[in-house]
Amino acid sequence: MTLKTPEDYIASLNDGRVTYWDGEKIDDITRHPRFRVPIAVAARDYDHKDPRRKEVMTYADETGSSSHRVFQIPRNEDDLNKRVQMMHEMSIVGGVTGVFMALMSVKDAVAEANPKYAENIERMYRYVRDNDLRAAEVITDPKGDRKRRAHEQDDPDLYVRIVKRTDEGIVVRGAKLHITAASLVHELVVMPTKGMRQDETDYAVSFSIPVNAPGVKIINRSFAPSELNSFDYPASSHHSMPEGFVVFDDVFVPWERVFLAGEVRLASVLAQSLGLWERVGGVVGSVESSKLFVGLAQLVTEMQGKERDAIAQSSIAELICYAEMLRMGLDYACSHFERTPSGMIHPNILAINAAKYYYAANYHNAVKYLQDLSGGLVITLPTETDLRNPESGQYIRKYLHTRQDVDVEDRMRVYNLIRDLTADAYGGWHLVVALQAGGGLNAQRIMMNRTYDMAAAREAALVAAGARDAQAHAKAAE
Ligand SMILES: Cc1cc2nc3c(=O)[nH]c(=O)nc-3n(C[C@H](O)[C@H](O)[C@H](O)COP(=O)(O)OP(=O)(O)OC[C@H]3O[C@@H](n4cnc5c(N)ncnc54)[C@H](O)[C@@H]3O)c2cc1C
Repeated sequence: MTLKTPEDYIASLNDGRVTYWDGEKIDDITRHPRFRVPIAVAARDYDHKDPRRKEVMTYADETGSSSHRVFQIPRNEDDLNKRVQMMHEMSIVGGVTGVFMALMSVKDAVAEANPKYAENIERMYRYVRDNDLRAAEVITDPKGDRKRRAHEQDDPDLYVRIVKRTDEGIVVRGAKLHITAASLVHELVVMPTKGMRQDETDYAVSFSIPVNAPGVKIINRSFAPSELNSFDYPASSHHSMPEGFVVFDDVFVPWERVFLAGEVRLASVLAQSLGLWERVGGVVGSVESSKLFVGLAQLVTEMQGKERDAIAQSSIAELICYAEMLRMGLDYACSHFERTPSGMIHPNILAINAAKYYYAANYHNAVKYLQDLSGGLVITLPTETDLRNPESGQYIRKYLHTRQDVDVEDRMRVYNLIRDLTADAYGGWHLVVALQAGGGLNAQRIMMNRTYDMAAAREAALVAAGARDAQAHAKAAE
């Protein structure tokens, strides 16, 4: 099998998939302006013309073929470091395809319940890798009333469920929300959103299905309109990616594509497997964006002649601390990696959850420092069209002058990037993404409570309090 080219990838998306955007049913997304930027973003992951990028993005699989590195199962620290390097350079469409790492990491546990499901995971992994396909992580159910379990909801379809079983497969109904890049991938990998109980067997379901399977419908939403110019919107003009509201309207799934169908004890194993890799992606992104915040804070400070100002310096120090804590958290998680029983390496679970939590819990604060340093121009700067109009442009150039070595257009570009990243539609999207993508703050708190070495901490506290001896005495006296 060979790696796809960007052109192969784009052609493969015209496959009859049912997808809607802004009230329109779009027959061929490859020709629709709404999808121009998202498809260009995803297609870049298929471009291996540059030898350095090819080195980062591909690897020789066990058959000797060149495959995309997103499918390389890390077996040692070097593999893991290469994977993280790839994640720094890959689009979010490649990122979510990492769902196969999650599946492969639970394959052994799945095999204990049903070896056929484990075979299905392995076969689907090879199929997607060998055909250089992309897959979405399809987990989050609408969930209705949060107090009630899946089978207690007013409408039984508020969590994806099996409505029919036949000799050939299962029929599923329901919806999954917020699915990143759902319309831009080839496979939808569905998993339960949380653990299920014994009376919820129809909801303990996992499978992979092509995006163009009959009954699959996707309603798209993105922060960005189709056409944004790169001067006023330096980030979002070439970075937008729709999330999909994915409907399964009685979709038939053949048994060969099923990973779970009723074995409730595995529902939480599958649900949690994804959280780790999803959060690794979040932390990798945060390392990049926090470094960018430091650079922007420094530039905006210099451009306004405030570089010696103590308050500006202390705000920049806060941003440096944020960026460094994240970078060190990622480094620590990778150097203190863990190993699954089958020999797969993954970043340290506690460290990744702590780093993801730190990123999310402090992101709004980091934005505050950057915006406070920058001033009101972040949201009131005139647009490029007013700059290019000679009549209004002359005033913009005159009154946005700060000092001889600062070019007004450069100053505007810096402000536009700060606005685009933190204060406009893309910026608002980021504020919610930091908190919710990969699970809300509580999802990481739960994992930290679960994985921290509490016995050691408890013991240290007992010894420090002098209570250890007292307890030993009491025990001896019994
Ligand atoms: C941009 C973006 C991209 C995403 N991409 C994906 C994706 O590709 N695939 C995917 O599967 N998901 C994706 N998600 C979904 C994301 O994982 C969820 O948004 C997140 O897990 C929160 O779930 P929710 O939105 O249903 O909110 P809720 O579950 O309603 O959570 C909101 C708040 O309510 C709290 N809460 C929830 N239940 C209870 C309860 N019973 N009692 C008290 N408090 C409760 C939560 O702790 C949280 O603080 C994405 C989200 C965003 C914003």
